[in-house]
Amino acid sequence: MTKVIQNFLPFYDERPNGAKVRALVLHCSAHAATDMIEVLRERELSSHYIIDTDGAVWQLVSETKRAWHAGESRWRGMHMLNQYSVGIELCSLSLGQETYAPAQLRSLIKLSRQIIRHYQIPAVNVVAHSDIAPTRKPDPGIAFPWRMLAQKGVGCWYDIADAEKMAENDVAILLAQIGYDVSDLAAASYAFCRHFIPSLVAIDKDVNHLVDNVYPSDFVLPQPYLPILKACAYRYGRLKPRR
Ligand SMILES: [Zn+2]
Repeated sequence: MTKVIQNFLPFYDERPNGAKVRALVLHCSAHAATDMIEVLRERELSSHYIIDTDGAVWQLVSETKRAWHAGESRWRGMHMLNQYSVGIELCSLSLGQETYAPAQLRSLIKLSRQIIRHYQIPAVNVVAHSDIAPTRKPDPGIAFPWRMLAQKGVGCWYDIADAEKMAENDVAILLAQIGYDVSDLAAASYAFCRHFIPSLVAIDKDVNHLVDNVYPSDFVLPQPYLPILKACAYRYGRLKPRR
């Protein structure tokens, strides 16, 4: 087991009847752990865990309870993911735009693997806050190493060779197959890029500005990148959740 510093917050409730954990939601916030706990306390929010840049793991809420981290959110038919998920916050002063510390990632991988194994969470349900709330949230940001984590058994990545196996070319249909809520297509497309094609996402040095300006409302996925979307949709379509 990962060594965990316990500092429980009272901001949680029971998971509704029948809501089993089947997703892992990854976040970042621009605070050190102790500051983040104070911010959560002020806002009456929580997450199950915080991982500081030095790799220290803090637990704020028991995994058996519903922590308050995701807010309004949708993914693969789930709505309001707090009830279905464990939430992990990473400390990142750049809001996930500068490389994450190796010690922090080591702790994240270890903790995530424990959670994924315990609840049998499907790879397609290891998600960014930005994936499940694409109009509202930019975290855990473009520097988050999704590909490396997928190689370590945390989440899902694509194989570009799969692109030609997908006949579908409609961006909204492909994004929906991955799991995105496509009611705002620009937001969903940009969230997809944050996760899979971060080079298309602008760096915003002003973290406070970024929090309120998550995506350009006129964003369209450039045509040359369509094969990456198709390869992802193929992979996410094949790796069906187990429940
Ligand atoms: Zn978040």
